[in-house]
Amino acid sequence: MVATTKKLKTGMYDNVKRQFEHAADLMNLNPSVRKILANTNTEIVVHFPVKMDDGSVEVLTGYRVQHNNSLGPYKGGLRYHPTVDIDAARALATWMTWKTSLAGLPYGGGKGGIQIDPKDYSDSELERITRRFTYALGDNIGPEYDIPAPDVNTTPQMMAWIADTYMSTKATNERSKNAHVVTGKPVGAGGLEGRDRSTGFGVVISIDQWAKHRDVDLKGKKYIVQGFGNVGYWASHFMVERGAILIGVQDASGSVYNPNGIDPEDLSNYALSHDNFIKGYTKAESFENADFFGIDCDIVIPAAMGNQITGANASSIKAMMIAEGANGPLDVEADEILLEMGVDIIPDIYANSGGVIGSYYEWLQNRNGELWLLDEVLVKLESKMQQSFKKIVAVADELKTDWRNAAYVVAIRRIEQAYLQRGIFP
Ligand code: GLU
Repeated sequence: MVATTKKLKTGMYDNVKRQFEHAADLMNLNPSVRKILANTNTEIVVHFPVKMDDGSVEVLTGYRVQHNNSLGPYKGGLRYHPTVDIDAARALATWMTWKTSLAGLPYGGGKGGIQIDPKDYSDSELERITRRFTYALGDNIGPEYDIPAPDVNTTPQMMAWIADTYMSTKATNERSKNAHVVTGKPVGAGGLEGRDRSTGFGVVISIDQWAKHRDVDLKGKKYIVQGFGNVGYWASHFMVERGAILIGVQDASGSVYNPNGIDPEDLSNYALSHDNFIKGYTKAESFENADFFGIDCDIVIPAAMGNQITGANASSIKAMMIAEGANGPLDVEADEILLEMGVDIIPDIYANSGGVIGSYYEWLQNRNGELWLLDEVLVKLESKMQQSFKKIVAVADELKTDWRNAAYVVAIRRIEQAYLQRGIFP
């Protein structure tokens, strides 16, 4: 969550639909497949009671939207955030369908969450909320059916609670077969080495691909990051490894700026001891939130919430490239303005796909009873992301279009082919 989010209605599903229509026109998508993909398959809303620490009971509302499973089980995260509603879940589930297809994974797309701010609850309340939500979802999730993962404000610990709760509801001799009902678990509980950094690492691999394509040297390049959670932190970490310089960070508590560079490790240590917020960090100046994206830099990495760069602030951007670590950080108007300005945009369904690719490896590891090593995970992830970039660039050339449209076309063509080959039952 960032400071500006509170004022904005998400409206993300409108963006998703507009992006889809645009790509569908461009690729001349089969009209029947177009009708199917314009809708979600299933929308689950659950109301469930949770006991609070003071003995009172709260009834919470949870969502899981399953957009499409033509290529495999539904896949996508669970988000705990005040902006979670059916519209946001639909948008995010649809993006997952495109993301998994583009990455060449055997998955469809789903997404969900609960409309809460986890900071309002104790750890034991969050455990009971997570377990009771899992129980309420019941067999609407499953290791070969719909596989949740972390997203905004949800943690590996929560994924372990989901796995444990789901497994506990199965027959004794079936329990251990179900660990892959959720990914993003802690390594000790069946998680994958490197899943923690896979989204941020993938963002930087996407930036490497761009740099190679545009013949840019990342060394000395200045970048800013919005959101300093899992994605923002790890992306910053890997950018520094390439010699790039972090000069601005914004999170829900405010913005900080230092033209001489901010050490992401130091800032992360500061945030860890300050309620996960960067506000008050003294090795950088505090900065006006509204002017954040206008900071003079080379690369912008939005890694927080949707609709952060819009028609209202896009023209203030001075960077040459934006890598979308978040899902849907640019609205359609911002896209148009920035393309007109000649800014390169690495679209979310590619830039942040490292997370779900890491999840796929965790799922395979659990399913096959294997234990993978960190190095092999990162090497495989990098090569998968290189393949996707090549496909995007090839379609962008073929259809004379931008990278977002091209990424959509790569993703949708794969799904279209599956439908055309299988036909529609009955
Ligand atoms: N929440 C992440 C995303 O938006 C990861 C999803 C997953 O690993 O299933 O891509």
